[in-house]
Amino acid sequence: MEKVRSAALARAPGGVMRGVAARLHLDKAAAFWLAELDATWSLGERRARVERVIDEAPDVKTFVLAPGGAWRGHRAGQHVTVEVEVDGARVRRCYSLSSAPSDPRPAITVKRVEGGRVSDWMHRRLRPGGVVGLGAPAGDFTLPEVTPPKVLLLSGGSGATPVMSMLRALAGGGALGDVVYAHCARSRADVIFATELAALAALHPRLRVALHLGAPLDEPGLLALAPDLAERETFLCGPSGMMAVAERVWEAHGASHRLRRERFSVPRPTAGGAKVRLQLAASGRAVDADPGATLLEALERGGERPAYGCRMGICNTCRCRKRSGTVVDAVTGAVSSEPDEDIRLCVSVARGDLELAL
Ligand SMILES: Cc1cc2nc3c(=O)[nH]c(=O)nc-3n(C[C@H](O)[C@H](O)[C@H](O)COP(=O)(O)OP(=O)(O)OC[C@H]3O[C@@H](n4cnc5c(N)ncnc54)[C@H](O)[C@@H]3O)c2cc1C
Repeated sequence: MEKVRSAALARAPGGVMRGVAARLHLDKAAAFWLAELDATWSLGERRARVERVIDEAPDVKTFVLAPGGAWRGHRAGQHVTVEVEVDGARVRRCYSLSSAPSDPRPAITVKRVEGGRVSDWMHRRLRPGGVVGLGAPAGDFTLPEVTPPKVLLLSGGSGATPVMSMLRALAGGGALGDVVYAHCARSRADVIFATELAALAALHPRLRVALHLGAPLDEPGLLALAPDLAERETFLCGPSGMMAVAERVWEAHGASHRLRRERFSVPRPTAGGAKVRLQLAASGRAVDADPGATLLEALERGGERPAYGCRMGICNTCRCRKRSGTVVDAVTGAVSSEPDEDIRLCVSVARGDLELAL
């Protein structure tokens, strides 16, 4: 009887399988066996099978995914949490979706970071047929419902991923009006999606693709990319230094309200002052933190190995109870000074000595 049931479940499409599973009140063990039947889904967990791997540029690969039935699509500009197993441990990182929302095969485009645990593993080990855990799409760095008349998609390095999803969405939806796609890269060979960008520019006369190669971006460089930048609804994603320059320029032009940003890493606070002491209650150890360092960085430098995911205050993997002391969130500027508050180590910077529950 059980064999017949399993065979019927295996043949049924994802939605029917979930319905049947719910009716049978399947427990964890059954979920495991169902996951064995189809590795791209299990109860309560999203997974995706890697369908294709594309070499985009040196050290940049796109992983085209075939998600399980739980996938509900994304909005252009959003990111997902990807979970993989590296050396026996399950680790998570955030990746922006680079594909158009209409594409049934979502894609992430990953730059290999020197010494990076997940990106390096993905580049070396993740092949077609491999399975990754996939969180729900999240984030509010998205195109507005009504496309603005003048758009600037501005990116640097792997920051191209969310804005490429936006460009693909606009082009696919026939809404490719007055759009500048401006990208900064070390060299022409490092420009991600170069072939598709050229093809889109040839197809859409109102799309202008502008590149800034080599030298770090400055105000003249920005104005060369988009002389009317202050008039454009701008979507920016790139390395911290480039984003800081852009923020200053938009502010100087009185156009900060037109600048929307996605960060892959925590902005560097201006460091100054003395070291502070992080007292760790559970282990009894103590770590000295450099001024301006996030608690995660300080703990890592001090030899601790706290769990982390996005390093950006998104995934909550590094959430930790602060017993006493004051921290500031380097992304939002929020201050936590009450005792026994939960904070995220990856974005918190100490304003004095602290005691953590670790
Ligand atoms: C919203 C969002 C979207 C993103 N989208 C993309 C995307 O589309 N494409 C993309 O390529 N990336 C993206 N990222 C970045 C991505 O999440 C990862 O941060 C990146 O791939 C590096 O992860 P990793 O595991 O390879 O590196 P990690 O292992 O996390 O290391 C990161 C850095 O920290 C250093 N480090 C690690 N451990 C220690 C330690 N113990 N002590 C000291 N230093 C240490 C490493 O040397 C390295 O320089 C995104 C991030 C966010 C927050």
